[in-house]
Amino acid sequence: MQSYSEDYIINHLGENRAEYLNSGSPPIFTSSIFTFGTIDEMRDALHNESSTPFYTRGTNPGLTMLSEKLAALEGGESCLLFATGSAAIAAAICSQVKYGDHVICIEKPYSWTAKLLQNWLGKFGVKVSFTDGSLESVSNLIENETKVLYLETPNSFTFEVQDIKALCELVKPKGIKVIVDNSYATPIYQKPLELGADIVVHSATKYFSGHSDALGGALICSRADREEIFKAEYMTLGGTMSPMNAWLILRGLRTLPIRLQKSHENGMAVANYLGSHPKVKKVNYPFHPSFPQFSLATSQMKGAGGLLSFELDTEDLAIVDKFCNSLKYFLLACSWGSYESLCFPSAALITSSNYQKNSFKPGLVRIYCGLESSDQLILDLENAFFSSGI
Ligand SMILES: *Cc1c(COP(=O)(O)O)cnc(C)c1O
Repeated sequence: MQSYSEDYIINHLGENRAEYLNSGSPPIFTSSIFTFGTIDEMRDALHNESSTPFYTRGTNPGLTMLSEKLAALEGGESCLLFATGSAAIAAAICSQVKYGDHVICIEKPYSWTAKLLQNWLGKFGVKVSFTDGSLESVSNLIENETKVLYLETPNSFTFEVQDIKALCELVKPKGIKVIVDNSYATPIYQKPLELGADIVVHSATKYFSGHSDALGGALICSRADREEIFKAEYMTLGGTMSPMNAWLILRGLRTLPIRLQKSHENGMAVANYLGSHPKVKKVNYPFHPSFPQFSLATSQMKGAGGLLSFELDTEDLAIVDKFCNSLKYFLLACSWGSYESLCFPSAALITSSNYQKNSFKPGLVRIYCGLESSDQLILDLENAFFSSGI
């Protein structure tokens, strides 16, 4: 497979400007249908529906352009685009399992991935076991029926990292497919397919889009897997990305490397600040030297971006609330990966009725460092420490 530089992929690959009146920015094909001059042309298109525009649930030129770029960035052969990351994850897992099969999944994946595996796929007789991601634990969990090892490295709240290459070497000889959620690192910082994974999934809502204005998902895999998934999960469940969102996400992709670099610089600066703060018990950031898997993280990833969490040195929910309410730059919201800095405290998951059951510590706060200056972000945190009286 030909490999291109990231710059070339993002700015030039698949643009086909001559086909679109040489417009610099690609047009948006909102059309749901594509028309044909003769029945022969129609027949040809229908028989190549996975690559020829026929009906937009299958193929649309704007989606093709974005999917070529994402496949090339991941070093994969092909890509399918979905309405959300969750739709891409569901299609990836469902494509590999049937009644009676077994999935091994890392602990604490994205919350709706856990629900898919535990609740929804359970209805269809698919079993799941959760692992800490160590080679020993995964090898103990393998059964004859195991078809998928599902990784999310790092995960998006406490950032435990899995050794993709070693795990692929362990499970692939047993016919188990490895799926990796690569939303945190993006292909700019980590390429799971090159380490042996079979399928990479993304929430394109996060860094790819980068502007908090479009939902999307991507699935990158071999040409053969794409054909299978296209005919089954993609066309039957119909969770296709809209042409408008494909265009917005393509626009976001233009600035991905530079945004990621700025988020990473801010993430490092904020992690260093928090790591030496007397009221912080622990910082969870794969590139902070205190992170237990620092050496694995820094050898497997080129950077860590702007998402991290930390534990305030208090069990008092009222103080945590006051800390979070005092933040002005870090907006209280879910998600991450865009221009604006965000704060998602685990305290938001706590209500009086589930307090005991909650597995997160009350003082655990996740923040995403966006594109503001790191000085400003640190000042915002400094002010919250002061105002909360912690
Ligand atoms: C947000 C997220 C998802 C789900 O993506 P949606 O686009 O919200 O459906 C999956 N994985 C990770 C790591 C995420 O952060």
